[in-house]
Amino acid sequence: MSGVPYFIDSHCHIDVSDFDSDREEMLARAEAVGVREFVVVGASGSLEQARKTVEFASADPRMHPTVGVHPHEAAKVDPSWWPGLCELAARPEVVAVGETGLDFHYDSSPRQVQIDRFVEHIELAAKLDKAVICHIRDAHPKAMEVLTKHAKGRVRTIIHCFTGTPLEARKYSELGFYVSFSGIVTFKGKSTRPVRESVACVPLDRLLVESDSPYLAPVPQRGKRNEPSFLVDTAGVVATERGLTLEELAAITVANTRVVFGLTSP
Ligand SMILES: [Zn+2]
Ligand SMILES: [Zn+2]
Repeated sequence: MSGVPYFIDSHCHIDVSDFDSDREEMLARAEAVGVREFVVVGASGSLEQARKTVEFASADPRMHPTVGVHPHEAAKVDPSWWPGLCELAARPEVVAVGETGLDFHYDSSPRQVQIDRFVEHIELAAKLDKAVICHIRDAHPKAMEVLTKHAKGRVRTIIHCFTGTPLEARKYSELGFYVSFSGIVTFKGKSTRPVRESVACVPLDRLLVESDSPYLAPVPQRGKRNEPSFLVDTAGVVATERGLTLEELAAITVANTRVVFGLTSP
């Protein structure tokens, strides 16, 4: 495989049923372009679902599971299953807590409930000494307030699928957090231009790339079901914004992904 860079998809949902019909082929396509490891992110609205994600990813050494409740699902958290979720998150193969966070764009759960669950997830990550994966949409000021109080200097923090402005990217970086770019960085349009411009505001040792499959396929696959092999298109745009080659960007982001999640080299 000489000449093909080594990538880690730092955030994907390849356990979902969208991939049931062609999962093996999808993984082969990823392998062919160098995407060889996957952080399989839990976004469950139930303990059962969280368990399934961990079981799915634990069965394959290329995959690294995480455990968390998506802010959309925050209102569904039943206090009776929170202890089970904490137990699951403590398992050694689980590399992070999340995704958690604040989504004030969709407001699928009441804001105060999202904030309360977010704090619980951050505190759990602190207790377990694991990274926390944050999904923040239209809620950056509040997220910074919560993260400054609970995560700064304590928890390895990832702002996944960054959708803010260059100023916000800079502020997250100053707090010591990792900023991850998804297919949105490839979109051509006025509304997503700040995301692309943000790439230059993140220090190289805090930069991550992700597919967020099956969502948000990058250009030129935009609108299709996303899959990890398309990560290369996102990485290409991020590399260009930084004046790096694809190989350099791959090496930098893989190193960062290993540090933040505590992954050992295979
Ligand atoms: Zn997300
Ligand atoms: Zn996600």
